[in-house]
Amino acid sequence: MRDHAVVVGAGVAGLSAAIRLATLGMSVDLVEAAATPGGKAGVVVLDGVAVDTGPSVLTLPDAFDGVLLPAGTRLREEVRLRRHSPAFRYRYPDGSVLDVHHDVEETLASVGRSFGPGAARDLEDYLAAVARIWEIAAPAFIEGPAPTVSAVLSRGWTGLRLLAGVDPLRAMQRAVNRQVRDERLRWLLWRYATYNGSDVRRAPATLGCIAHVELALGGFGVEGGMASLVDALVRVATRCGVQVHCGRAVTRILSRGGVVAGVELVGGTVLPALVVVFAGDVGALSSLAPGTAWPRRRQAASMSAWTGILRAARQADRVPHEVLFPQQYQREFEDIFDHDRPPVDPTIYVCAQEPCHGRRGWPQHEPLFVMTNAPAWRGASADDSDAWTVHAESLVDRIAAHGLSEPGDRFAWTRTPAQLAAAYPGSDGALYGPASNTLSAAFRRAPNRIVSQPGLYLASGSAHPGGGLPLAAMSGLQAALCAAEDLGLADPAHPFFPQVATC
Ligand SMILES: Cc1cc2nc3c(=O)[nH]c(=O)nc-3n(C[C@H](O)[C@H](O)[C@H](O)COP(=O)(O)OP(=O)(O)OC[C@H]3O[C@@H](n4cnc5c(N)ncnc54)[C@H](O)[C@@H]3O)c2cc1C
Repeated sequence: MRDHAVVVGAGVAGLSAAIRLATLGMSVDLVEAAATPGGKAGVVVLDGVAVDTGPSVLTLPDAFDGVLLPAGTRLREEVRLRRHSPAFRYRYPDGSVLDVHHDVEETLASVGRSFGPGAARDLEDYLAAVARIWEIAAPAFIEGPAPTVSAVLSRGWTGLRLLAGVDPLRAMQRAVNRQVRDERLRWLLWRYATYNGSDVRRAPATLGCIAHVELALGGFGVEGGMASLVDALVRVATRCGVQVHCGRAVTRILSRGGVVAGVELVGGTVLPALVVVFAGDVGALSSLAPGTAWPRRRQAASMSAWTGILRAARQADRVPHEVLFPQQYQREFEDIFDHDRPPVDPTIYVCAQEPCHGRRGWPQHEPLFVMTNAPAWRGASADDSDAWTVHAESLVDRIAAHGLSEPGDRFAWTRTPAQLAAAYPGSDGALYGPASNTLSAAFRRAPNRIVSQPGLYLASGSAHPGGGLPLAAMSGLQAALCAAEDLGLADPAHPFFPQVATC
């Protein structure tokens, strides 16, 4: 009988953890409350057309290979990645337009044409600076086990140099403004703080490296949509022997003598297990395993979002991603983080799923995924559905005014932050787990191993190393490696190529 693990939640992190545990030789049950796997990387079928309702940009695709290589494959063998040129079109309130490309040299040339050669030079210099941050931050704070202040400081000068190298003391907005003179380019770079749901005015300048990740390393579409990425992970998991059970919610994580013993499902079925990986939002853990604690204080949630699928008249030559900036972008951060309210004049993000992912829509119409940022949903007041209806109508008008849709086009599906919070217990509707609005955020994320409860591990966008598809996959990998280390199954010093058989 092989060692048995239960993974709770079949989002990207849970699927990744399950695959890695299976390749380490464990028998794995993956238990998902929803009817289908994928979690926030979800799909809705509208009039026979499947459309993505969650992520639309895939960065760092090779991060998935940490779990896929031991399973004898890699992401690029399982899905077809799509590069776009142009990839993003940014539209500003003064009428100016900037195209951003998959290739960074093309982007710099485009910035030069739209905003002048000085702006292109500023961007090049900024990207060089944040590339250096990424080179330090990725191995030290993202790719490995959860960092601790004491571990960094125990390295003496090396540790201090490491910290200094990621520019943690300046706010991201300050760092951008210091290096970039064009206000429009500043807005583009501020927006990367929202890629992990944070406030550019408070987040450490370290987060500037997200611009390097997308602009220099590349953002991709996935042929068939993000659903294809989820399908690929499910396919590999199944090939490795993982038993996937959808529509089965876990109600309790069981322990005996302070050690994890398994899980209980709705209806009372018990699945005994040596290892339980909880791969839902960590905020839900207190109800599933009361008393579970880790020595890191919980932090404020990252941004939530209002999302919708606009059924828009088909157009030729659409750009996959469009960003429609408001009159004053700074006010969006003030509304969300200072006043805890949806932005009065929000930035609108539009992903055209046909050109982005090669997904076919309806005969005359195509699905546009539309998103505006919003504060996390703390459930303190009722969801004001009338206000969201007005919000949706104003978005329809603004999108049409930019020529991206016809006046009669309507939303075929919408989701408010409160509905997002209800779908993902413990998330507060946040897209990326806790926000990174403080210097210490990276040190305060929930760890992948709960030391006080042997056998319990965390893998999700709300645990180390954080939210977003590639980081969620890394979180699953780290949780599996922590379990493997505790069980003596593998050498975690070689997380990508451990000495285990492929399946
Ligand atoms: C609108 C939106 C846009 C986004 N855009 C991007 C983007 O462009 N690029 C990007 O990289 N990221 C993006 N993200 C973030 C990304 O989707 C998430 O970080 C990632 O999918 C999180 O994966 P996860 O596995 O940690 O958690 P989830 O996807 O939340 O999966 C957790 C799963 O656990 C299940 N579960 C929870 N509790 C239980 C229980 N008790 N029993 C059984 N099952 C349970 C849930 O049903 C869920 O399926 C976006 C997210 C959203 C919502």
